[in-house]
Amino acid sequence: MNQELNRGVTDWIEQNQAAFISFLADLVRIPSESGQEGLVAGRIKQEMLRLGYDEVFNDRLGNVIGRIGSGRPAMLWDAHMDIVPAGDPADWGFDPFEAKIENGVLYGRGACDDKGPLAAMVIAGVQAKQYLQPGQGSLYVVGAVGEEIGEGMAIAEFIKGSGVEFDYAVICEASSLSLCRGHKGRCQLEIGIPGRGGHASAPELADNPLYKAARIVLEIQQLNERLPIHEVLGKGTIAATQLTTKSNSINSIAEGCKIFVDRRLTMGETAEVVIRQLEEICRPYQATVELMSIKEQTYTGAIQSGEEFFAPWFLDEQEDLVQAGARALKAATGGALIRTWQFSTDGAQTRGAFGIPTIGIGPGDERYPHSVHDQINLQEYLKAIEVCALLAQEVLGK
Ligand SMILES: [Zn+2]
Repeated sequence: MNQELNRGVTDWIEQNQAAFISFLADLVRIPSESGQEGLVAGRIKQEMLRLGYDEVFNDRLGNVIGRIGSGRPAMLWDAHMDIVPAGDPADWGFDPFEAKIENGVLYGRGACDDKGPLAAMVIAGVQAKQYLQPGQGSLYVVGAVGEEIGEGMAIAEFIKGSGVEFDYAVICEASSLSLCRGHKGRCQLEIGIPGRGGHASAPELADNPLYKAARIVLEIQQLNERLPIHEVLGKGTIAATQLTTKSNSINSIAEGCKIFVDRRLTMGETAEVVIRQLEEICRPYQATVELMSIKEQTYTGAIQSGEEFFAPWFLDEQEDLVQAGARALKAATGGALIRTWQFSTDGAQTRGAFGIPTIGIGPGDERYPHSVHDQINLQEYLKAIEVCALLAQEVLGK
């Protein structure tokens, strides 16, 4: 750790904290539900240009990319620009888009998921200008679209289209400034159960799909007990979450029904494994198993599409990137807690699909995303800027 650079970063944050907080407040004030990130993307671009990034651009889907330096090692920072809907303002007790600040805490939709981490990353990135010489390393800071509808899909398209071979990735999402080195994967599946409809007064003439569904659901419950446990990520899980029928009358037996399944994946659980397990359960009932898929338009008019499959991943604690992250955290905060995330992030692609060494870090408590308590402590936000700046220096500032 270069003490002089470190002190420089601390002073820089102290001198500019009002501007850094006001940038975050701007992001929170601009609603940006998935598919509507255009205005927030514009604000991020403006900030990257003001800070002095070497290049600022959009890709086809509308991801915003700021680059500093060139060549390898190449480091990717990723945070998402979209938010989930705020719901009824009455449940908040204030306007969730006013960026209310009280006692050093900023409240509002997206404050910790993911605008606090996003703003910290955008600001911290520019520090890499101090030591990155052309051709000797690069930092790509990406504000991604559509994470809330399919984590990793947009960053995957950026990685593929960029032509850059990334050596490291950092996912900036709420972690209370601990270092996350993995999380479970997840997928969503749909089971189609055939039947023969009929009048409920003559059940013997029908083939009631609900009775088959009941047996399948009980077998899913038993499957959950048998799923594997991984030493870092924990146990895979399965849960039946919804059941719908084609019947809209209480006096009719349906022609068929569907069961929806949420599956959390531990290491080694691929799409093939997951589908095969369910097909074995479903075969006696001629029921079909399908991975669900997503197809949504982004704010640029492009289509974001893919399967609802998000791979599990982790990085060994001894890996360089984990160690660099721990050193940056210790220098900025005095300690470094290393753990895994409960939720799924764009790491499902950066590490899970592309195999890029990845860690996650960000300000904000994991209890608050998607709730009416969405909030970020501003001291922690400023600390995150320092952590990210020191992390880049640890990895790229050799
Ligand atoms: Zn998020």
